[in-house]
Amino acid sequence: MNRNKREREYYSIDVGDSTFMVLKRYQNLRPIGSGAQGIVCSAYDHNLERNVAIKKLSRPFQNQTHAKRAYRELVHVNMLHLCNVTHPVKQTCVYLVMELMDANLCQVIQMELDHERLSYLLYQMLCGIKHLHAAGIIHRDLKPSNIVVKSDCTLKILDFGLARTAATGLLMTPYVVTRYYRAPEVILGMGYQANVDVWSVGCIMAEMVRGSVLFPGTDHIDQWNKVIEQLGTPSQEFLMKLNQSVRTYVENRPRYAGYSFEKLFPDVLFPADSEHNKLKASQARDLLSKMLVIDASKRISVDEALQHPYINVWYDPTEVEAPPPVITDKQLDEREHTVEEWKELIYKEVLDWEERTKNGVIRGQPASIG
Ligand code: AMP
Repeated sequence: MNRNKREREYYSIDVGDSTFMVLKRYQNLRPIGSGAQGIVCSAYDHNLERNVAIKKLSRPFQNQTHAKRAYRELVHVNMLHLCNVTHPVKQTCVYLVMELMDANLCQVIQMELDHERLSYLLYQMLCGIKHLHAAGIIHRDLKPSNIVVKSDCTLKILDFGLARTAATGLLMTPYVVTRYYRAPEVILGMGYQANVDVWSVGCIMAEMVRGSVLFPGTDHIDQWNKVIEQLGTPSQEFLMKLNQSVRTYVENRPRYAGYSFEKLFPDVLFPADSEHNKLKASQARDLLSKMLVIDASKRISVDEALQHPYINVWYDPTEVEAPPPVITDKQLDEREHTVEEWKELIYKEVLDWEERTKNGVIRGQPASIG
């Protein structure tokens, strides 16, 4: 399709402080959220005859870091839950069109959830994390605002967390960073493995049970204080894994005994009005006690969490064991291109996408979504 014809298919509309330039099939844009990577609107898609979410990636071609991040998001979102990509004028913005979800998890946390809903949401979070890991992405920064749900309790993880390499691009945005869900190994700058994300799930689960943030640190340092005040000062064995300067700091903190999980998550926090619910409450507490372990070498893995009795009632191999992606994040991360080259790659990706979805059918997605 020639460039002028492509451009005629778009129109521009102001939404809040931002201007969206989208295909005419998308109408009735309304802002629904914003994050580190951009602004998100809901819109009505006249072709699909249903509402969608459109995310405008902020300044994708500002520099190489942004451009690589845009490409990364495009390739991986594509793999996860993308309905469409639009790229009006090759030189400017990238928009991702996704299935519209009903709320982010911050809103769900305020609700009283029964064991069925709580365990199903956790099961899907763990499946999503397992898929990210299969793509070579260890998130390290999962938080409720980056997880969205629908009223039928289906759930999606929206972003890909901390970049493998220094996140300089992100740090430059005037965006308040939430650290409540970051694992001790991230707070203390240690090496990490895949179960770094299990800690975050533990914090999110705890918040869903308590209705308030488990470790509400006011800054990086206070984040560690909040963890040890509740879970207790970690063992000497753990301290030996820290580098000298961090160890000196950690050793000089007051010592805390911490609380038992029965104290941290007493029965009153759970629906426990029947024998079945009492059993579920004790399973939920057991799962929390295995996820919220400071020493990662003693914390359960994603696979073990999926097999835990509180979660494995939902286990479906076709959901848990999805095929790994064609391109892994590590391969992507090792690629270096100029901004111009990234632009070309993104443009090619958009054209490929259009080709693959020409007849309104999106390969690899259920018909009800496409
Ligand atoms: P993000 O920039 O991806 O972190 O998204 C920022 C916010 O936009 C999220 O916290 C959600 O509230 C909202 N949001 C993003 N994507 C969707 C979606 N597909 N459906 C509904 N809301 C969304």
